[in-house]
Amino acid sequence: MDIAKAKPTSYTYGPVPSRRLGLSLGIDIVPPKFCTLDCVYCQIGRTTRRSTVRQDFLDIQAVLTELREKLAAGLKADYLTIGGSGEPTLNSRLGDLIDGIRRLTDIPVAILTNGTLLYREDVRAECAKADVVIPTLDAADAAVFEAVHRPAADITIEKLVSGLEQFRAEFQGEIWLEVFLVAGVNTQAGQIEKLKTLIQRIRPDKVHLNTAVRPPAEPDVRAVPAEMLDEIAHRIGGHCEVIGAPPAAGMGPCRARAESDILSVLKRRPCSVADIATGLAMPRDEVTKYLTALQDRGVITAERRGDILYFQMRSQTP
Ligand code: SF4
Repeated sequence: MDIAKAKPTSYTYGPVPSRRLGLSLGIDIVPPKFCTLDCVYCQIGRTTRRSTVRQDFLDIQAVLTELREKLAAGLKADYLTIGGSGEPTLNSRLGDLIDGIRRLTDIPVAILTNGTLLYREDVRAECAKADVVIPTLDAADAAVFEAVHRPAADITIEKLVSGLEQFRAEFQGEIWLEVFLVAGVNTQAGQIEKLKTLIQRIRPDKVHLNTAVRPPAEPDVRAVPAEMLDEIAHRIGGHCEVIGAPPAAGMGPCRARAESDILSVLKRRPCSVADIATGLAMPRDEVTKYLTALQDRGVITAERRGDILYFQMRSQTP
């Protein structure tokens, strides 16, 4: 498929409730699923285009036009969050996008990144335009890094860690480091101790522990129980916390657009009824009604993770 200047139906989605960012308007600047990694826990599914080549994927002006229209319609969000269907630093216009956003609004900008391209000076310079950068560090050695991330050939844990250290030395904003834990894979005491040492070198402002609460790319990936997350957070210490529950406020969509808004959210990630109801400020029974109709038409599927039922686009099902 020719993905040059691919034009999705929408570049933005939400606002959706984020466990870290409050109400977050997502901005998706990479076609699915271009990534430098193929993480076993990825909630978007397996990586189909593993690459380290930065590209001018999209019409950035079209992204900014869509954002301008949402702002004019009264958008309320705590953050504009660049991320989405792959690794956003693969988009070579990332810096131009943030410059454009700054001309439109004062809403802070966050970037969700796996951090693997931060060894590059251009990527560090572009990420440094954001207010908050949220990179990932899930492994403390090459074996676990390979097992969890299945990286592109030229990506190594040494490059990731040195890129994060360099970025910390240069970046004036906040770095919130995510550590995604997979039961039995990166939760051993020795691994946690080594991770703690790396975190001390990287010096993030916050450390967030996450686990597979949403359906992962590989079905055998298991979430870490809450008590163990708390214990690991205690062992890492400092600014480490387990990511909490989403907030309860949101912005209401036009009801006529409810179904397309729901689909816009589900195209990016699996969500529960509560996630969608909070993010779109809709009553839960109304969300359930739309989800049931979409399930009946075969557009979406549902999968239970623990006590929560998650809905996702049928094409995302592993
Ligand atoms: S979790 Fe993030 S870094 Fe990992 S494969 Fe998915 S999009 Fe890429």
